[in-house]
Amino acid sequence: MNPPPRPGVVLPAGGPPGSAAAGSRKVLFLDRDGVINVDHGYVHTAAQTQWVPGIFELCAAARDAGYAPIVVTNQAGIARGYYTEAQFVAYTRWVHGQFAQRGVPLLATYYCPHHPQAGIGAYRVACDCRKPGPGMLLAAAKDFGLRLGECVLIGDMPSDLQAAAAAGVGTARLLADLPPLPATLFAGPPPPDNPTP
Ligand SMILES: [Mg+2]
Ligand SMILES: [Zn+2]
Repeated sequence: MNPPPRPGVVLPAGGPPGSAAAGSRKVLFLDRDGVINVDHGYVHTAAQTQWVPGIFELCAAARDAGYAPIVVTNQAGIARGYYTEAQFVAYTRWVHGQFAQRGVPLLATYYCPHHPQAGIGAYRVACDCRKPGPGMLLAAAKDFGLRLGECVLIGDMPSDLQAAAAAGVGTARLLADLPPLPATLFAGPPPPDNPTP
């Protein structure tokens, strides 16, 4: 038996997971394409990168409310051979630098390099990490000691919300459904999706 496929992870330099405040850290999970960068399809270079308006302000509001951002992104472009995992990691380090320069450092980027049908070689595999699977969220929870029920996810596709539900993330929203100022999501404690009477 091969070991089950695992998501990849990019961490900031010198930022090992699971250190400070394990179990008390709140995380804002962000999908990448369509939430951080405009989804031009398989974006993997700085030249292709067009930031979604308001994303840095959203991260600043989250930071001020005590949420650290973690990116969770399906990267079938790796599976399909459009770019290598090394190219993706180098690009992701550049993205991390862009966020850090704006005062909203990313805690980590988790990525699924697999695709069950279109993948080449070892990347062609049915995995738990490709959204709507919960694998990336569960890996982050394990690595950083998160209580997912206290975390928030923002995506742009139903599969993002399905992954959040499967992992038990407390609050999940589509970016398009947020009010004009997404910062209002963090004005108080996140509203429960299923309030109990
Ligand atoms: Mg997306
Ligand atoms: Zn995967």
